[in-house]
Amino acid sequence: MGSLDTRTLQALDAAHHLHPFNDNAALAKKGTRILTRGQGCHVWDAEGNQLLDAFAGLWCVNIGYGRRELAAVAAAQMEQLAYYNSFFQCTTEPTIALAAQLAELAPGDLNHAFFTNSGSEANDTILRLVRHFWAVQGQPEKSIFIGRHNGYHGTTMGGASLGGMKAMHGQGGLPIAGIEHIDPPFWFGDGGELEPDEYGLLAARRLERKILELGPERVAAFIGEPVMGAIGVHIPPPSYWPEIERICRQYDVLLVADEVICGFGRTGQWFGCQQFGFQPDVMTLAKGITSGYLPLGAAMFNDRVAGVLKEQGGELAHGCTYSGHPVCAAVALENLRILGEERIVEHAREDIAPYLAQRWAELGEHPLVGEARIAGLMGALELVPDKRSRAPFPDAGRVGGLCRDIALRHGLILRATADAMLLEPPLVISRAQVDELFDKAWSALQETAQMLGK
Ligand SMILES: *Cc1c(COP(=O)(O)O)cnc(C)c1O
Repeated sequence: MGSLDTRTLQALDAAHHLHPFNDNAALAKKGTRILTRGQGCHVWDAEGNQLLDAFAGLWCVNIGYGRRELAAVAAAQMEQLAYYNSFFQCTTEPTIALAAQLAELAPGDLNHAFFTNSGSEANDTILRLVRHFWAVQGQPEKSIFIGRHNGYHGTTMGGASLGGMKAMHGQGGLPIAGIEHIDPPFWFGDGGELEPDEYGLLAARRLERKILELGPERVAAFIGEPVMGAIGVHIPPPSYWPEIERICRQYDVLLVADEVICGFGRTGQWFGCQQFGFQPDVMTLAKGITSGYLPLGAAMFNDRVAGVLKEQGGELAHGCTYSGHPVCAAVALENLRILGEERIVEHAREDIAPYLAQRWAELGEHPLVGEARIAGLMGALELVPDKRSRAPFPDAGRVGGLCRDIALRHGLILRATADAMLLEPPLVISRAQVDELFDKAWSALQETAQMLGK
């Protein structure tokens, strides 16, 4: 394949490859971008363009590209024992070591890991095991999960149902039964004249209303991303999560944090719940757990939930062939070693996040930007027609898409969700690379404004 030119590869791709989250007809016409190499915060495409990857692959390459240590442990583990299962009363060393390491890293008594291959499967896992947790305690009717409109919890039947993306629910008959949604906190779009903290309490109490409407005896759990990523980096006001936690405790509803994006340093703490001041009973992990070098997900349970599952749960009729895959576990361990020993999370929090926030706020000065929001190393620029009114563009997505394509021509990968430009760089981004990012993003905003005749 290495000798095929880009056009030939694109033609083969169009003929034989169905892309996820793409309009495949439109993509076939345009031709897919083929990435060939990565180093640090940059990737190169088949045409030789060098791109600053301000999206860390897909919210996951936290330690940056090209770390040979990860390749080396993967090769060593494959040679020693490429695979063994964790089903039949056995497992492997890296799997055990990773479970123990995650228990140590995770806040509070989230001491028990169940491994999957992805974030979606981790969320399917909690859906089943949390319902089982209540059922074996004589409360099978305590089975409803409450998620949020526009939340993202993956693409499996369970994950996409827990999520609240309308376009996803529109394909394949979702959501499945027993899942409800409340409106999420989005101060910029929904807060009106309220102070953010006042609005945060109000938004959290939507959960209380929903629990009371359904009956607390029927509600198993609430699930949310500490910062909502996929919808456009919606950052809750500081009052939101502590109030959600109070409500969950009051009605004995389990609190699930989907840390698939926020986990492993993204918000400046190891986990988003630490940044936003709450303690989940269950959390789901993926993406940054291996920095994307291999697929791996995990659900972490606290002592209470895991205790019941272990003591009363009987045989757990759930698991993936690759649950706890030793090569993925070894790579995750090496990734966590690097994050820890090189103090990457602390450096990101103390040095890069404040600098990035400052430069991001400068981008917020641009006339096209209604809000420049940022939490640690995840942020968004909300593009609007009129800075003062906060109202969106009428044809959502067109301006964002335009700005994204222009940024790409300037050598910057910025994702657009509707008209929000999303920021999610590797945690190892340097100050100089932040400057590069700023210059390219500013140029893209300028050109976008010109094309809009502004
Ligand atoms: C990406 C993501 C998922 C799904 O993870 P996959 O590995 O793609 O299945 C779940 N939750 C959140 C918050 C995510 O961003």
